[in-house]
Amino acid sequence: MSRIIMALDQGTTSSRTILFDERGKIIASDSAPLTCYYPQSGWVEQKPEEIWDSQKQTIEGVLRKQNLKMKDITAIGITNQRETVIAWDRKTGKSVGHAIVWQCRRTANYCDQLKREGFDEVLKRKTGLVTDAYFSGTKMRWILQNNPDARQLAEKGDLLFGTVDSWLVWNLTGGKKHITDVSNASRTLVFNIEKLEWDEEILNKFEIPKSSLPQVMASSEVMAHTDETQWGASVPIAGIAGDQQASLFGQACFESGTAKNTYGTGCFMLMNTGHQLTISQHGLLTTIAWKIGNKVTYALEGSVFIAGALIQWLRDGLQLFNDAKETEEMARSVDSSGGVFVVPAFVGLGAPHWDPYARGTIVGLSRNTNKNHLVRAGLEAIAFQSYDVLKSMEKDTGMKLKTLRVDGGASANNFLCQFQADILGLIVSRPEVVETTAMGAAFLAGLATGVWKNLDDIRSMWKEDQQFKPSLVASDVQHFIEGWQKAVGRSRNWMSD
Ligand code: ADP
Repeated sequence: MSRIIMALDQGTTSSRTILFDERGKIIASDSAPLTCYYPQSGWVEQKPEEIWDSQKQTIEGVLRKQNLKMKDITAIGITNQRETVIAWDRKTGKSVGHAIVWQCRRTANYCDQLKREGFDEVLKRKTGLVTDAYFSGTKMRWILQNNPDARQLAEKGDLLFGTVDSWLVWNLTGGKKHITDVSNASRTLVFNIEKLEWDEEILNKFEIPKSSLPQVMASSEVMAHTDETQWGASVPIAGIAGDQQASLFGQACFESGTAKNTYGTGCFMLMNTGHQLTISQHGLLTTIAWKIGNKVTYALEGSVFIAGALIQWLRDGLQLFNDAKETEEMARSVDSSGGVFVVPAFVGLGAPHWDPYARGTIVGLSRNTNKNHLVRAGLEAIAFQSYDVLKSMEKDTGMKLKTLRVDGGASANNFLCQFQADILGLIVSRPEVVETTAMGAAFLAGLATGVWKNLDDIRSMWKEDQQFKPSLVASDVQHFIEGWQKAVGRSRNWMSD
């Protein structure tokens, strides 16, 4: 019988478990929704026990569907929503308060203070990240400052912190292992990505005790086993990576200078920059892609906040169509956007502009503009935003990308993929399996347990579905980019008081 690898994909809106065979094909999957709580404006929480329960339910569900038992699984890989912080009691395993989700803005003021003090320079140099409420460090500090139970436990040395991967491993192992991997650690704002250790200076600044943090493992190694009494088998947990890094791995972007872009609610572009750490001079994050053996691979990352969400807004807010799928045909029904540009800065602009005061803008309207022009301009905006991020990556690394691998819900749109290829002047390549995140976690786990021997084995399992070749002349591209940049200029700094 073929060996089976189980990937746990714990996301913000759902938990999923997917089984892969040793040819990298999906055998079965199960998913369960997960609730977010919004106790105040800008605050986002989840219940740690609900995260675990939903994940557990899908593990049991997928095994049941295939009439399998845990003992039939060769290895488990984990990929997860990043930066979200959970605190729990070492003695009881019970969570302390709610999980603070990556989107939560509650520590924005403290981040502003850090910037005023100039500490953002220290954070950037040591962690590769910008000082923002998004990352875990200031969330852990908030818990210690605001939750008396957490503080008491910390004083006794019994408080444990973890990102979602740590929490899943803790529960899978019956409370035996408190670990994380380098890719998740690199999103906490307290991990030194050069020395590969929790950073004393930053921990002191945030007043976070080191004893509360997990042991940091490689991304592909046997790091723990499922608890036999609970699961009936001791199955190796052999791969962990944050969702975007897992997707870079699942897209087989193993060489320096290769990149992937995920078109979901937002866009996440990551470029493999090899074993050399590159601190961005152009508004990107430096992050750890993965560690295999004793070799660390770094990546540059740029996130765009609103991508597919713009299509959702055109559908639900403006009711221009019923289904996102219709946008492809609508965009093709006109020759061009008719000079219309949409800048979807609904929540400010992310990489590389970082302008929290920018707001959504539509420019270039005329009496001839109809909804098809707007839809086309919307899809083009997704591609333009990705253009800005990719150009920053090329400036930071001095490397020129040849192919961009794409995935995510909106990558199903052929118009978008073609326009992306046109604007970037490079090949856009879409894989057969767009479940790249879960696949990356499975690959990491299978690599550590001998299911696959090396990266070449994995590379050979990555299969292309469709390729989009650039077809625009340079002067036309230039014309588009000038229009886009002018439109971005109009959207910027709108909210300043
Ligand atoms: P997430 O994982 O962030 O929830 P998905 O990867 O599931 O997102 O992608 C869903 C997003 O992609 C939605 O915002 C939706 O509007 C957009 N989308 C889905 N299909 C299409 C399509 N054919 N054309 C354009 N956008 C699409």
